[in-house]
Amino acid sequence: MRSVIVIGGGISGLAAAWQLRDRADVTVIESTPHIGGKLRTTTIAGIPVDDGAESIMALRPEAVELAHEVGLGADLYDPAPAPTTVWTRGRLRPMPRGHVMGIPTEPRTLAGTGLLTDEGLERLCREEQLPATPLAADGDLSVAGYLAERIGQEAVDRLVEPMLGGVYAGRADRLSLRSSMPRLAAVAEQGGSIIGALRRVRAAGAPKVSPVQGVRGGTGRLPQAVAAASGARILTSTLARELQRTTSGRWRVEADTSDGPLLMEADAVILAVPAFAAAELLRGHSPLADEELSAIQHASSAVVTMAFSRAQLPCVPEGNGFLVPAVDGRTVKAASFLSNKWSWLAERAPDTFILRASIGRYGEEHQLDATDRELIRTAVSELHLAAGRLGEPVAARVTRWDRGLPQYGVGHAARVARIREAVDKLPGLEVCGAAYEGVGVAACVATGRKAAGRLLQAGSAGA
Ligand SMILES: Cc1cc2nc3c(=O)[nH]c(=O)nc-3n(C[C@H](O)[C@H](O)[C@H](O)COP(=O)(O)OP(=O)(O)OC[C@H]3O[C@@H](n4cnc5c(N)ncnc54)[C@H](O)[C@@H]3O)c2cc1C
Repeated sequence: MRSVIVIGGGISGLAAAWQLRDRADVTVIESTPHIGGKLRTTTIAGIPVDDGAESIMALRPEAVELAHEVGLGADLYDPAPAPTTVWTRGRLRPMPRGHVMGIPTEPRTLAGTGLLTDEGLERLCREEQLPATPLAADGDLSVAGYLAERIGQEAVDRLVEPMLGGVYAGRADRLSLRSSMPRLAAVAEQGGSIIGALRRVRAAGAPKVSPVQGVRGGTGRLPQAVAAASGARILTSTLARELQRTTSGRWRVEADTSDGPLLMEADAVILAVPAFAAAELLRGHSPLADEELSAIQHASSAVVTMAFSRAQLPCVPEGNGFLVPAVDGRTVKAASFLSNKWSWLAERAPDTFILRASIGRYGEEHQLDATDRELIRTAVSELHLAAGRLGEPVAARVTRWDRGLPQYGVGHAARVARIREAVDKLPGLEVCGAAYEGVGVAACVATGRKAAGRLLQAGSAGA
């Protein structure tokens, strides 16, 4: 049995380790005291709550399949059905059903919602009469660069940007259409009306499953279950500092642990760390990979989690939460009413109402200079304006995700191709993670499994 060191104990690295189970002797090195990375469940007021990702995409199979494979199938949970709600122009305004990443497939149903002005709505409705906006098969544009021409800037600002803020903590004028909205890019490549094409896709079969699912007890259970099922040796509080290639073509990892330095060797290494950490580890091996990885920008954000006593709540907020367009100038960019969204949570803690507010988009890092206390204050006062008076939380905490979400800028797919080409020149080395082909948990699982698969195919493991 050959050996593999996976550097990074987030879901990407753990999915890779799981894929290699029974095929290689796998060690996962994780710098923090806990595995899971951005999938982490801790407790607030004694109740389990996710600090990072709270749901997994169910429209693509990878994460849900993995959850089933590691024994969590029975604990997968649909969120309560509720429309996407946008806090804009002073009120919570539900989006009509049938939108795709904020693009309405029946734009006339926006009339009367107050989401768009009359002019903005008319502009949106004209999209179906506009001539095609060509998107070359090998070309890329920012989301706003493409969409503003078709659906108008106001619809981009009020409908699409809040969705991008929620998923990427990113901005429509910087994010790549091809890499951050691939479904839309595929439609755009065909030319013609975006709204018409998305409507036809929906008419051909609206998905019968909830687009996302969570895990009873917290989605942070997923990496724990994957780690246990992988059979890998897990070393936490172990920071990989340097990679060396040995004369016999193996890889040596120099790591720092609380007990001092640790040297390890293996036939293969998988880097399942954020782009900036992968760049550092590859510095001496591939200047090109280092440069390209270092060029990937990141957004930082903070999650303010609060628990309220239901008995003391003047009114219980309705719905699953809301998104906020950047143009509204609020600090909170999204809120999730966890006790409404996840019925398992309401059953487990019927007397408590838990919600989370997210703060921080790319380019708005200054908001995170505030202290935890200030962020909690801001979150409470903006939630109060959006959802009604809440009173004081019985418990609150701030989780900071410094450089937590990679930004797929224009040309990201070409950059990833160059990184892969550079990494291909390093036998027995693979990269995976949120930096490459999707930031969502499902996409991360896919990259981890593919990285492991490539090693197995190349014979660096399990030979
Ligand atoms: C606040 C927030 C909410 C999110 N919500 C959702 C959601 O609801 N649904 C969804 O699908 N996605 C969501 N995402 C995105 C998703 O959670 C992440 O993109 C994904 O979990 C990243 O997984 P990963 O394994 O690639 O990276 P990470 O989770 O970042 O794991 C990488 C690991 O590598 C470790 N590491 C780094 N450097 C070293 C080193 N030198 N040596 C050893 N270890 C190292 C890190 O400590 C980390 O644990 C969210 C992200 C954030 C920040």
